[in-house]
Amino acid sequence: MADKDTVEKFLDNNPQVAKEYYEKKVKADVITAAFGTEVQVKDPASYKDVTTIQEAEFMFELIKELQGANKMEKALHKVLQRIALLIQADRCSYWGFRSRNGTPELSSILFDVTHNSAYDKNIVNPNVEIVFPTDMGLVGWTAHSKKPQNIIDVKKDSHFSDFVDKQTKYTTKCMLTSPVMSGKEPIGVIMVLNKQGASEFSKGDQELFNKYMNFATVICLQAHTAYMWDVESRRSQVLLWSASKVFEELTDIERQFHKALYTVRTYIKCERYSVGLLDMTKEKEFFDEWAIKLGEQEAYKGPKTPDGREISFYKIIDYLLEGKEEIKVIPFICILELPICNMMNAAGDDYFTFQKGPADETGWTIKNVLSLPIVNKKEEIVGVATFFNRLDGYPFDENDEQITEALTQFLGWSTLCSDTYDKLNRTEWGKEISQEMLMYQTTATLTDVQTILNTQEKFGSAPEDCEPKEMYKLLNVELLEFRFSDFPLSEFELIKCGIRCFFELGVVEKFKVPPEILTRWMYTVCRGYRDITYHNWRHGFNVGQTMFTLLLTGKLKKYYSDLEAFAMVAAGFCHDIDHRGTNNLYQTKSLSPLAKLHSSSVMERHHLEYSKTLMENENLNIFQNLQKRQFETVQHLFEVCIIATDLALYFKKRTMFQKIVDAVEGIPEEKEKISYVSNNATRKEIIMAMMMTACDLSAITKPWEVQSKVALMVAAEFWEQGDLERTVLDQQPIPMMDRAHAEELPKMQCGFIDFVCSFVYKEFSRFHIEINPMFEGLTINRGEWRALADVYEAKMKAIEDEKKRLEGGDAERECKHLEIKSPLTCMYFIMNIYTDYNVRIFSSLSLTFYASRNIRLQIQFERLYLSIFRI
Ligand SMILES: [Zn+2]
Repeated sequence: MADKDTVEKFLDNNPQVAKEYYEKKVKADVITAAFGTEVQVKDPASYKDVTTIQEAEFMFELIKELQGANKMEKALHKVLQRIALLIQADRCSYWGFRSRNGTPELSSILFDVTHNSAYDKNIVNPNVEIVFPTDMGLVGWTAHSKKPQNIIDVKKDSHFSDFVDKQTKYTTKCMLTSPVMSGKEPIGVIMVLNKQGASEFSKGDQELFNKYMNFATVICLQAHTAYMWDVESRRSQVLLWSASKVFEELTDIERQFHKALYTVRTYIKCERYSVGLLDMTKEKEFFDEWAIKLGEQEAYKGPKTPDGREISFYKIIDYLLEGKEEIKVIPFICILELPICNMMNAAGDDYFTFQKGPADETGWTIKNVLSLPIVNKKEEIVGVATFFNRLDGYPFDENDEQITEALTQFLGWSTLCSDTYDKLNRTEWGKEISQEMLMYQTTATLTDVQTILNTQEKFGSAPEDCEPKEMYKLLNVELLEFRFSDFPLSEFELIKCGIRCFFELGVVEKFKVPPEILTRWMYTVCRGYRDITYHNWRHGFNVGQTMFTLLLTGKLKKYYSDLEAFAMVAAGFCHDIDHRGTNNLYQTKSLSPLAKLHSSSVMERHHLEYSKTLMENENLNIFQNLQKRQFETVQHLFEVCIIATDLALYFKKRTMFQKIVDAVEGIPEEKEKISYVSNNATRKEIIMAMMMTACDLSAITKPWEVQSKVALMVAAEFWEQGDLERTVLDQQPIPMMDRAHAEELPKMQCGFIDFVCSFVYKEFSRFHIEINPMFEGLTINRGEWRALADVYEAKMKAIEDEKKRLEGGDAERECKHLEIKSPLTCMYFIMNIYTDYNVRIFSSLSLTFYASRNIRLQIQFERLYLSIFRI
């Protein structure tokens, strides 16, 4: 056998042989060891001076351990065993780091691992784990300081605590520790105790220990990541769950989004975000189509959703994230980019045209924008979410895209859910409303019908046996006048008048309306109106009657077919059915079921739905003998007519109506005039809609005795709403609805006439001279209101002057004489000012008011002359 020197010399001269030998032998050995059974450690002492090859064996063994599906503790156990062996330590332990109630602590996971101890002995059962806070002992100090420690003599170290030694009756002499880190946070500590055969761990031991810590870290991190992933996915499950719970209590999508976004606010690291919900309706409202159909407005050419919808938001929620807890909803900012848009330095981007400067008074500006569509499970784009300015100032990256995408998916999913929910709710609200309707609705009995028609007395037979032609003769009231007043008639008589209108139009015969059905329908419409101050059956009737008069007396019928006229008059009677005496804004503010059901023209949509419900009942359906197409036309006309009474839409149609009137005025031939209108469905609809407005506001054109009374009823209903706003909503009503401003009514009436009514009646009398009586009536009433407004202003001026006089001014003694045209005006005046004045009646012909000590107002009835005196 060759001696050592010879071999060395040979290998030095033949490096090729050495290389081949190691490649063949050593590598094979190591690989076999790594992928075969575990490395056999027979004599730990022989590993004292561990060779590179032997160490490589360990490493492969540990890598194999890492790849296996073993539990983290099992793999870590092997690493600790090898550490104990390699650095000749008596024992090792692994402490896990966690936090409870805000206090970080460490707990024993693998305890007292020696180079050959059994795993089962070392793994600590959670019931008997040793736990201590991080401000205790050297292990605690390691976790706290996040630095490895090499303690030569624990007795001399201030951080050492013998608390565990006492429990286990062991004596710690020297110690190596190292934290296991996940990023900047510790997840555990490995501890090595008592060097065997020496009093301390050498620098070499420490280096070796640190090297093996890499394995331990990988193993622990892997387990930690898996754990965190589990936590995260559970967290999102919880979120989803709570969101789904949220559906149960939320009623509308806005609140739902609000809640969802509030929940996830901490995960979205941006300064501000907004969610815009797209209008899902593919069809536009009839009044929005008018301008396009008339060629006055270009059809929409902007971006569309893939399924062909226009980009129009019906609701935008904008959030400002403030600190950790607050989400403030702010006026909207929304950027629409489909499908996904991630923009850095928005202000410098040509494509970004929205808001380059500060977006609000705080000076906040948009830097980065991430915008993406919200898509529901049906793959429809239901909205757009836009995120602004990442909190750390960097642009949004792919991770942000992923997170926000997850959020928008969630939102999309929730819209679908709430769509369904919405539908469900709609049925519920619908039920609620129809129940209310039922309470108010009573259909006429045969006796009622008989009472109304009175056929028995006149013809000696039941209504159904009478000739329709004969029947309208029963009903004898002058209905064809614009100045018609319902005051002298009972509600019952108004039902008769309504029926008569249809006979007069000739539609009862033409469309085979059974008279008893017509009667029952009319009766039900009457009963559908509530007994409220103004928007009651009388108002409903007046609108139907005015429509009838506009068509016949106003000669507008020539543009319309009999069927259309039939529908228009019927819609007029129905147009305010089931009104509650409060306006649309009140419905929205008080969150009424109606406001939940309809997003715009709330009350009008309800009147329409109500009217359509009546058509569904065969005992009431006056359109029952129409063909399907005719019936559909009627339904459409009902929609146009009833929705048109929303004054909010009045301003939309004004100019279009005026243009039609201009055009007709310029046509010389009567025949041509008629065909210009009647051959164009859009023009007919616009005029029809304006006719409804003219009917709805017609009280303003009635003789002053009527108008002055009705105006007070309208005002009284407004004041009642104002009272509700004050008591129920705890809000200050607008002056028009505020009793405290009652005296300003004449002034407000003048404003209403000038800004709203004048146009309608002026244009209509220009359109058809036959409608001029309405405009005349309006003009007279304006004069009356102006006079009353002057009285009020004079009174205010008198008070003002008096104040000045008392302050030293020298006002005239007698202030003003006002001529008053009617006793009603006088009464009105008295009603409105008596609260402020001392009233003393001198004689039956004169009233004198004392306003303070110095002003005397005298009204002399015989002369209808009002004087304001100072005394
Ligand atoms: Zn009305």
